[in-house]
Amino acid sequence: MGSYVRRSTTVVDVGGVKIGSPFPIVVQSMTNTDTADVDATVRQAAELARAGSELVRVTVNNEEAAAAVPRIAEGLEKLGVRVPLVGDFHYNGHILLRRYPQCAKALAKYRINPGNVNIGRRSDENFRAIIEAALEHGKPVRIGANWGSLDQTLLARLMDENARRPEPRDAREVMREAMVASVLESAEAAERYGLPHDRIVLSAKVSAPRDLIAIYRELAARCDYPLHLGLTEAGLGVKAVVASTAAMAVLLAEGIGDTIRVSLTPSPGGDRTEEVRVCRQILQSLELRSFVPQVAACPGCGRTSSTRFQEMAAEVEQYIAQRMPEWRLKYPGIENLKVAVMGCVVNGPGESRHADVGISLPGNTEEPRAPVFAGGRHVKTLEGPDMTRDFLRILEDYVAARFGVR
Ligand code: SF4
Repeated sequence: MGSYVRRSTTVVDVGGVKIGSPFPIVVQSMTNTDTADVDATVRQAAELARAGSELVRVTVNNEEAAAAVPRIAEGLEKLGVRVPLVGDFHYNGHILLRRYPQCAKALAKYRINPGNVNIGRRSDENFRAIIEAALEHGKPVRIGANWGSLDQTLLARLMDENARRPEPRDAREVMREAMVASVLESAEAAERYGLPHDRIVLSAKVSAPRDLIAIYRELAARCDYPLHLGLTEAGLGVKAVVASTAAMAVLLAEGIGDTIRVSLTPSPGGDRTEEVRVCRQILQSLELRSFVPQVAACPGCGRTSSTRFQEMAAEVEQYIAQRMPEWRLKYPGIENLKVAVMGCVVNGPGESRHADVGISLPGNTEEPRAPVFAGGRHVKTLEGPDMTRDFLRILEDYVAARFGVR
């Protein structure tokens, strides 16, 4: 599904999950438990996977975390949760991967930050050691730059080059170029050290949507590696969701991006799976993938002062969520269902006709009757106190007729 032409032409296999343009855009997430706490990490990784995360990344920041990784993989296996684990390495990945081969084996992909393995300097050996571990264990890598830890040697070199230009570019543009150069030069080095072209995914995360868009457009123009999209340090709540969506939607609509993550800072004790739901909603809103039926509801306005229509929209959503476990088994393709609950005659009948099943409730001055549409046709007009119950019956009949296997 999806009308946007994806740009990447290389496909990378991450523990059976394919990342690249012929395949659906992959949803990723990251745990925030202490990786060394096996039980807590298994629990959270399982929650993320059950919410729809197709890859789960864990930080591997020290020896205890590296030792825990194979036990986390076993714990997930015992729960029947099959989700590839990605290891996030900074500074000491070369040591941990060598010292903990079971960790290197249990991970489906290694993420390397070129800004803190010091590519191109004396400690280029560290980068090379990680690539050699990937080769030994047959794993792909993500070369993921982050502007908070951008390779300072590279940035200084580009700043110097820029200063010598007759018309120097502004510092922000140089920073963008440094992000692009950092991952492309690292990918080139990885291939030079023997890593096959189809075992490399790139990312270059920044926290400003305009920079992210510019950087990824440039990356997509200059390479054919699959790209992992995400706005780093997106922040809290609505701001984080909107900023991530604003940046990623532009790129996804241009066919850029093969896997995504939304980095939300959770409220204390908050639900980590929210980042997975946001990713899925971005992809579904852009009609790139379908996960759950969508309920369209108008925002309401002065033409509908009663709360009846808001209550009904909420009840319909709840009903669908509650029926989905059974519907998913019985009705293939049910995730494509579109339902509309509208507040009055202005846009109600039109929107309801465009949905698979829709109802247009009466506004303030309208007759207390609600036309129902199914498959684009007016099928019934409801009235009275049991309107919601009657509408849900029509919905259930429609679902069985349209999605039931004959
Ligand atoms: S459909 Fe009617 S109630 Fe809903 S926003 Fe439009 S005019 Fe207002």
